[in-house]
Amino acid sequence: MARRVALVTGGSRGIGAAVARRLAGDGFDVAITYRAAGDRAAAVVKEIEAAGGRGLGVRAEAADPVAMVEAVERTVRELGGLDVLVSNAGTAPYGALEEVTLAEVDELLAVHARASFVLAQAAARHMEAGASIVLIGSSLAERVPYAGWTAYAMSKSALVGLVKGLARDLGPRGITANLVSPGSTDTEMNPADGPEAEEERRYTALGRYCSPEDIAAAVAYLAGKGGRAVTGATIPVDSGVTA
Ligand code: NAP
Repeated sequence: MARRVALVTGGSRGIGAAVARRLAGDGFDVAITYRAAGDRAAAVVKEIEAAGGRGLGVRAEAADPVAMVEAVERTVRELGGLDVLVSNAGTAPYGALEEVTLAEVDELLAVHARASFVLAQAAARHMEAGASIVLIGSSLAERVPYAGWTAYAMSKSALVGLVKGLARDLGPRGITANLVSPGSTDTEMNPADGPEAEEERRYTALGRYCSPEDIAAAVAYLAGKGGRAVTGATIPVDSGVTA
């Protein structure tokens, strides 16, 4: 069977790297984007190739819509098509409401909401029936158990509506669009032994952090045959923090 092609933004580490590895293992050629960590992106590309796929690393700032479109176009040019888009690149500044700057709000909206829209729009031009768009959201779009996350939660909530709209726009073409919403997940953004980790663990039903592989498994399901009847949905993978 021909290998399918995926593009994963923010694939140099954390959840994005786990998704890239998982999709490579499931038979995809995988392009990943990164912002700065070229050496780490190159290491993930090597792992994709070791799994038997073709890999591609693309430097692309998520706040720059032109770079997002170019990442899609390069993937299509160099890997020959696009079957799965995973919009994952993200950042998580938090702090007291009075101290959040307009520049931080604009960056969060650009990196999480606008980038996902632009990527989906560009990807849809190339996708055929059977393709999938998966956005990585956050449990904080559903429930915000701690202070300091107002702007981040706002930027991730936009994705709930985005996948519903995409599902309706692209459903007639046989393309699905879904949101995977992680809870606390052990990455550099939110290490399971970090200063906030004990409190975060206490809010979950399972008393545990998610692993990046837990999130990747949900993406793989949505990108694979089993997920073909799921679209416009938000799938929590959050150890029950929103239960
Ligand atoms: P991470 O370990 O900090 O990795 C972030 C990834 O995104 C890296 O590949 C980074 O590239 C890239 N990136 C960050 N800002 C970017 C920008 N402005 N332009 C382009 N690329 C950018 O984070 P993570 O924990 O894997 O998070 C991945 C996604 O899951 C994010 O959307 C995050 O909001 C969401 N999430 C995470 C958690 C959690 O607890 N970890 C929970 C809920 C949701 P470089 O390596 O080049 O910097």
